[in-house]
Amino acid sequence: MKTSNLLYREEGDLERFVEKEGVEDSKRVLVQVFTGVPEPGNITSLQKELRSIFKEAGVIGTTTGGEILNGKVLENSTVVSITTFERARVNVALAEGKESYDSGLEAVGSVAEDETKLLIMFADGLFTNGDELVEAVSSRLPGVPMAGGLAGDNFTFKGTYVFTAEDVTSRGVVCASVNTERLYVNGYYNLAWVPIGKEMEVTKARGNRIYEIEGRPVIEIYKDYLGAEAEDLPHIAIEFPLVFEREGTLLARACLGMDEDGSMVYEGAIREGEKVRFSIWDTGIMLSSAADNLKRFREVPSESIFVYTCLGRKYLMGNEAEVESRYLQSLAPTSGFLTYGEFFTKEGRNWFMNYTFTSISLAENPKVCGREGQDIEEGPDRELMRFRALVSLVNSITRELKEANSKLEKLAEKDPLTGLYNRRKMIELIDEQLRRSERYGTSFCLLMVDIDDFKLVNDTCGHQKGDEILLEVSDLMRSVLRETDVISRWGGEEFLILMPQTDLDGGTAVAEKLRLEVKKRLRLPGGGSLSVSIGITAYRDGDSLEQLVSRADRAMYSAKRKGKDLVSVY
Ligand code: GH3
Ligand code: MG
Ligand code: MG
Repeated sequence: MKTSNLLYREEGDLERFVEKEGVEDSKRVLVQVFTGVPEPGNITSLQKELRSIFKEAGVIGTTTGGEILNGKVLENSTVVSITTFERARVNVALAEGKESYDSGLEAVGSVAEDETKLLIMFADGLFTNGDELVEAVSSRLPGVPMAGGLAGDNFTFKGTYVFTAEDVTSRGVVCASVNTERLYVNGYYNLAWVPIGKEMEVTKARGNRIYEIEGRPVIEIYKDYLGAEAEDLPHIAIEFPLVFEREGTLLARACLGMDEDGSMVYEGAIREGEKVRFSIWDTGIMLSSAADNLKRFREVPSESIFVYTCLGRKYLMGNEAEVESRYLQSLAPTSGFLTYGEFFTKEGRNWFMNYTFTSISLAENPKVCGREGQDIEEGPDRELMRFRALVSLVNSITRELKEANSKLEKLAEKDPLTGLYNRRKMIELIDEQLRRSERYGTSFCLLMVDIDDFKLVNDTCGHQKGDEILLEVSDLMRSVLRETDVISRWGGEEFLILMPQTDLDGGTAVAEKLRLEVKKRLRLPGGGSLSVSIGITAYRDGDSLEQLVSRADRAMYSAKRKGKDLVSVY
């Protein structure tokens, strides 16, 4: 295969170029048009010229946020990339006017063949949902690598277009399949955004919109964390994209704007329950990934390289953005465009990504490039080191705070002496159990355990010894009861126990066993025995927490009245 890339300036350029390069119109030709002039008039005249030259070739085109010509990043220009395969045949299709998934399915359905080895897809960048397209492609062409991206219009958000030689749409998709027995397809992607600060749960989201994070309006979250700079929303949000992990892959979502209903709109879906973090651009990662990309493509057959990279990267890096594609040109002709979202296949799964640099290397022949191509220089950079230290500082503080918080949460629910749940936590747990029982009608028991004559223990053996005995009683209860039983220190020397899935007979048997074990195993310093009185009650329909606890309490006092060291049932 052979790819030639043209900077198209005026009518007639394409014809001259095709003649000079000796391109012959056939089913084995793939033409990709990347235009930074997102106007219908421009597209119509391009199509006219394309149709006059290509009757057989597969033509797909898209508007862009920048064009890549032989590795260089351009703006507001038109690049035509022409690939002639030796054996592979190309099919193209356009679909529009449907839900994203259905358009995707229709387009893929009309180009898919048994021998399809690659699918390149472009879709409009304002209406079509990239996640749905990925699903459609995966369902029709499972295991076939996918590349391409969403059309751009230089962040004006007025209109993006995709087209074939015949048709154009601002609300749809075009795709090309490459069909052959053998095609070497290798992909590489690079995110280079590092998560910073704490993880936050998306609590209200619909499709591409987030309404709430951590139960608060999303805009407040931006204002809290980005400070005064949040005045510049939504622009500042482009520089701090939200990132999250989905099935082990770190994804970013680009913010497109704010809506009157208080939501923020993103290029791609984020689901409720996903845990997002802000992220920050790391030039160092970008450079080392670019070097790694070059190294990998050197090791595989590479005759043409296509690059679909996010416009957001250029927004941040300016001309530096070119590093990633410029070096690839030393291996094979490199063309592509700056997108509003990228399609990429990683380990056999298709993804709709944002903010990434994606590249694919294609070859029909197995010859490997070897050590060709210029190396990427990576020197130590003080500015970068300072930046990385700052990111590490913020993330370490965040982690420490998170650990401290979870310790505090645990402390807030445990009694410090015995390590048992405290009264506050126990009330919560009984409440939960009550709700479950109301719903499913399951029974449970409450046991109130009170140490007999404990005041006397304190008085004769000292408070310190008293504490030790409280601990011994807790440990003994832990060993006698089941894992699923919940033990709490309800007050001084009183313990309340919740036994889920237990009826009154079962509970009474356990209470009796507990009473006997205390008597048998625990001794006072002078050799005297220790005992407990236990009150037990079971859940009854319509019980409130107060009613339940009060019955357990009354049962326990009745045991005391009857002479202590007893189990009493209410
Ligand atoms: P009864 O058999 O009627 O339950 O008599 P009692 O002495 O056990 O009951 P009372 O309520 O009169 O006294 C409870 C004692 O438990 C009083 C208090 O000093 C002691 N106590 C409460 N909490 C602690 C504690 O954390 N450590 C120690 N050592 N003693 C405690
Ligand atoms: Mg007592
Ligand atoms: Mg008591």
